[in-house]
Amino acid sequence: MLVTLASVLKKAQAHGYAVGAFNVNNLETAQAIIQAACEVSAPVIMQTSEGAIEYAGMDYLSAIIRIAAKSSIPVVLHLDHGKNLDIIRHALRSGYTSVMYDGSHLSFEDNVHRTRQVVQWARQYGSSVEAELGRIPGKEDLVTVKRRELLYTDPESAREFVQKTGCAALAVSIGTAHGPVKSRTKVCLDYALLKRIRAVVAVPLVLHGASSVRSAIIRTIEQYGGAVPHAQGVSDQAIKRAVLLGICKVNTDTDLRLAATSAIRKALALHPEEIDMRGYIGVARDVMKHEVMRKIRLLGSADKA
Ligand SMILES: [Zn+2]
Repeated sequence: MLVTLASVLKKAQAHGYAVGAFNVNNLETAQAIIQAACEVSAPVIMQTSEGAIEYAGMDYLSAIIRIAAKSSIPVVLHLDHGKNLDIIRHALRSGYTSVMYDGSHLSFEDNVHRTRQVVQWARQYGSSVEAELGRIPGKEDLVTVKRRELLYTDPESAREFVQKTGCAALAVSIGTAHGPVKSRTKVCLDYALLKRIRAVVAVPLVLHGASSVRSAIIRTIEQYGGAVPHAQGVSDQAIKRAVLLGICKVNTDTDLRLAATSAIRKALALHPEEIDMRGYIGVARDVMKHEVMRKIRLLGSADKA
């Protein structure tokens, strides 16, 4: 069933687990996510970015997610990294049960002002709003945020921001990055900072850029002719610790891209005669489903539907 972000995150916060948020770009990613969530009986957030909307169209993507949400588990239809206010309004009118307004590139005052505006719109539709304070580097859908623009979330500003905007959830910058990070070591999170934010912010906290970038998947991509040099992600232990310290929503996009790419490369290499898309995209769907199930178990939200 379709539910709001606020309702699933409230439960997650009360019981100390996090809900997985996965990006939907086409039919097969949506099927992989919903099949995985149903199989392990978990609430799930199915989100579309502005880039996905540009690629596939909001009407197509939201229709697919609505059909997925006919299952018995709680499903949030969420707009990821909404920056364009027209798209946000369109999403709310189209029945998105949650929208993210990302004003992290603005000054504190402008971010407060616009987020508050979006919260007011969302209330009219019974929807809820995720906001962002601080800057998370990396390739964030259509925009690239440079490393030097990295800005960790300041706890006191976060407290003031949530109080002034009335947002239902807050994305924080504590060391993660969007996309596969080019580094020799796994990504380090600032747990002390997370604790300080948690101590003064009551709303559920969100971790972006939380893909694992598993080496087995990278090896498969490389084995079949691809190249993702020095790609790193966040370790399973780091994710678990972040959830213990109060992260309630964890975004994953890169891991599904990598899973699909590895499956398609392998399928085409092993079956060069294959010309039926259902063959290699079907395999990609299975591998993405496996990745979603793995992430849901890691977050502790299996059997929480
Ligand atoms: Zn993000």
